[in-house]
Amino acid sequence: MQLDTDACWEAVLTRDRSADGLFFTAVRTTGIYCRPGCPSRTPRRENVAFYPTPAAAEAAGFRACKRCRPTEAELRDPAAQLAQSVAEHIQQHIDDPAAHTLDSLSAQFGYDPQHIQRTFKAVLGLTPRQYAEAVRLDTFKANLRAGEPVLEAAFGAGYGSSAHLYEQTNDRLGMTPSAYRKGGKGVHMSYATVESPFGTLLLAATERGVSAVRLYDDAESAVADLRAEFPLAEVTPGDAQLTAWGEAILAHVTEGEPLDIPLDIQATAFQWRVWRALQDIPRGQTRTYQQVADSLDMPTGARAVASACAANRAALIIPCHRVVGANGSLTGYRWGVGRKKALLQAERDERGLL
Ligand SMILES: [Zn+2]
Repeated sequence: MQLDTDACWEAVLTRDRSADGLFFTAVRTTGIYCRPGCPSRTPRRENVAFYPTPAAAEAAGFRACKRCRPTEAELRDPAAQLAQSVAEHIQQHIDDPAAHTLDSLSAQFGYDPQHIQRTFKAVLGLTPRQYAEAVRLDTFKANLRAGEPVLEAAFGAGYGSSAHLYEQTNDRLGMTPSAYRKGGKGVHMSYATVESPFGTLLLAATERGVSAVRLYDDAESAVADLRAEFPLAEVTPGDAQLTAWGEAILAHVTEGEPLDIPLDIQATAFQWRVWRALQDIPRGQTRTYQQVADSLDMPTGARAVASACAANRAALIIPCHRVVGANGSLTGYRWGVGRKKALLQAERDERGLL
C-alpha cells in the first residue's frame, strides 16, 4: 500500500482519530512509533516516517509508543482506549490531584470534560474522581505497608497536597463553593463602578478581596447584573478603597502600572494555571489559544484554555483580551470585541509601538 504522506501528516497535525489504524507515525529522533491520534507532543515533520502497519514500523527498528499502544487491537475501541489512558494517567499522577481534575484530563486528552466523564464511567463503572479516590486509598495503604511514616504515605498518595490545595483555594474564596452555588446566601458583597474609555468598570468584592471585574455600557446595568447573579447576597456600594482599586486596574492597562490587588475568586487549579499564563503575556502583545496551551506544555489543550479564558472573572487583571484566534483574529470577548480591540490598542500606544 502506498501512503499519501501529506494526508498522513495532516492527520497527525490534527490528531485525527478517524485515521487510527490506517497508518502509523514513526519518529526518527525518539525511535518510537504511534497512532495518528496519539496525545504525545507533535513531532517535527522532517523527523517523521509513515508505515502502513506496526510490523512495518518495527521491521524498520521502531518501538511501540507506551501512550497510544499502536499494537493493541482491542484498544482500537476509542472508548476503551480513552478510559485506559485516563486510568493510567490518574495512577501516574496520583500524588498531584490537580493533574486529574476533569479540566486537566480534558486538556490532556483533547476531549471535553463531559465526554471523558461519560466514557470513563461507561467503561469502568465509576467516575475518574471515584477512581482517583480508590487509587489514592490503595496507594496510601501500600505506602504504609512499605513502612513509610503516615504523613509521607499520605502525601505520596496525594492526600497532603489535596488538603493543601483545598486550604489555598479556601483562602482565596471568601465565599465557599456552596455559598456561591446558593446565589451568595449569607455573603456580603460591596461594589464600585469606575468610568473608563472601555466602558464602565465594575468591581465586586467580598471581605477577602476582589471577586469580579467586568465591563459594561453603564453603571446601572453593571449593578443590576451583579444583583441578578447573587440574588441572595447582601450587595452594597463599597468604600473608597474599592474605587481606588478600580482606578489602579485602569492605570495598569493604560500606563502599565504594576497591580497588587487581593483577589477572591473561585476557580479550579487548572483555571489558575491558565490565568497565570495569561498574566505572563506582555502588555500590548497577543497569543493564540494554542500558544498558551503550548506554554503550559499541553499541546492538545487549546480548547480547555479557551474555556478557562471564557471563565475569567477578573477582566483586565487576568488579561484574557490578549488571547486571539488561530489566524490572529480578535475572536470573541465576553465584554465585546470592540472593547478587546480598544484595550490592546491602549496597551500598544503606551508601549510606543504605533
Ligand atoms: Zn504514541
